[in-house]
Amino acid sequence: MIDIQIPESVQLILKTLMEHGYEAYAVGGCVRDAVLGRTPNDWDITTSAKPEEVKRLFRKTIDTGIAHGTVTVMLNHTGYEVTTYRIDGEYEDGRHPKNVEFTGNLVEDLKRRDFTINAMAYNHIHGLVDAFDGIGDIRRRRIRCVGTPAHRFNEDALRILRAVRFAAGLDFEIEEETKKAVSLLAGNLQKISRERIQAELEKLLMSGHPEKLKIAYETGVSKVVFPELDRVMALGVGDEVIKLLSGMEKNHYLRWAALLCMSDRKHSSCILKELRFDNRTVDVVSRIVEAAKKDIPLTSPGIRRDIYETGEDIYEYYITFMKYFAGSSLSGKKISETDIRMWEECYQDIINKKQCISMKMLKLNGRDLIELGVPRGGEIGEELNRLFYQVLDDPELNERDKLINIFKNHRSYNNISEENQR
Ligand code: ATP
Ligand code: MG
Repeated sequence: MIDIQIPESVQLILKTLMEHGYEAYAVGGCVRDAVLGRTPNDWDITTSAKPEEVKRLFRKTIDTGIAHGTVTVMLNHTGYEVTTYRIDGEYEDGRHPKNVEFTGNLVEDLKRRDFTINAMAYNHIHGLVDAFDGIGDIRRRRIRCVGTPAHRFNEDALRILRAVRFAAGLDFEIEEETKKAVSLLAGNLQKISRERIQAELEKLLMSGHPEKLKIAYETGVSKVVFPELDRVMALGVGDEVIKLLSGMEKNHYLRWAALLCMSDRKHSSCILKELRFDNRTVDVVSRIVEAAKKDIPLTSPGIRRDIYETGEDIYEYYITFMKYFAGSSLSGKKISETDIRMWEECYQDIINKKQCISMKMLKLNGRDLIELGVPRGGEIGEELNRLFYQVLDDPELNERDKLINIFKNHRSYNNISEENQR
């Protein structure tokens, strides 16, 4: 018999519900992950109690989706979603059920779930309830729909992408009939909102096996949700891009930059905006993509200038990205590991020594220049910029007195040459 460790808070919720005469189980992803020996992200509970009844039994609850039967129970600052057994009504548009109906039957609730591995429930009294052989599919390492795949994908097209996402998360294959339906109905993903697509793509990319993205290409899913993959496949470098992606550190910005490495700043920022990513993601990823096209600098002054021009905020990401990218045939340049190592060490040295790499670190500012007689306006910026670039070249110059001297010398030199010209 399969035994699952349930956190105390979850046990308390199950016990409270059961003591009041209701059925209650941990359900879905948490049961799947616990069976697999993985730590679940969150624990969901399914119960025969109606939302109002759940609310009555716990001190602190939040109405998360009362209409769909979901109440969040708060215990020790953690939220647990408790959802009433339900049957999803007819699906209107390949996205949402028209209505939901509560039921007293656990198996009816499990039936509405997407994949067999996600349709198992557990409590300490009844053990595992596995009406669709989720355990068998975990053993066979496969993603299989509950019920008829084409029917389930017609109800909710997001499940098509979820099939690929779970394959990547678990390193499973998609079962044959399910996979056929994925290919057949991939076009339906057009009906799904970009936000929901983004959430699934993000999980796919950040999974243990992002190389499973290849399935999205083979089944025609990427053509609908991420055509950039089809573009790089057509260029003949798709496999290299996927290799880069799957070898890349598990970092949100770096993995997206890997996937977008064959595009430029404008194109990648367009793609990410279309997927409704936040501004920071759009900005950071597209700048890494752009930076990766440059030659890496190999002298200290060159690196300081590069930090300034590329941006301090992304420079560490940029170096890390290049560690992987430089070794790939995609970069089109030969950059040795030694060069990368020297570059990184030099960068660390610059940071440790707090050398000047931004205008605000310059030991002279606009106010100083006004006091020195420079008229307000554009000239101040020009002077500061000139001094700043000199300091980037030689950090020793970043002292107030030295900078004033450089400024004065430059002024008098300019005055003399102006007089000579007259
Ligand atoms: P993760 O660990 O990535 O959160 P999960 O299995 O918990 O995976 P969720 O999206 O959090 O996935 O959904 C929780 C559960 O709800 C699933 O395990 C599944 O039983 C059910 N579910 C979620 N989305 C759907 C869907 N589109 N169609 C049918 N059932 C779904
Ligand atoms: Mg979950």
